[in-house]
Amino acid sequence: MTKGTASHFGGKKTHTICRRCGKHAFHVQKRVCASCGFGATKKRRNFNWAKQH
Ligand SMILES: [Zn+2]
Repeated sequence: MTKGTASHFGGKKTHTICRRCGKHAFHVQKRVCASCGFGATKKRRNFNWAKQH
């Protein structure tokens, strides 16, 4: 086992609740929501790839 790759474990959480989509997908450090893209762009993320359900 080497240290480094798991540096984010056991510490601060990586994602938190996104205040736009309400999912637990808002990346704390990047300040970007992985679900709706909040923080990355001013526009809503393109959901073409996720609209098939
Ligand atoms: Zn979101």
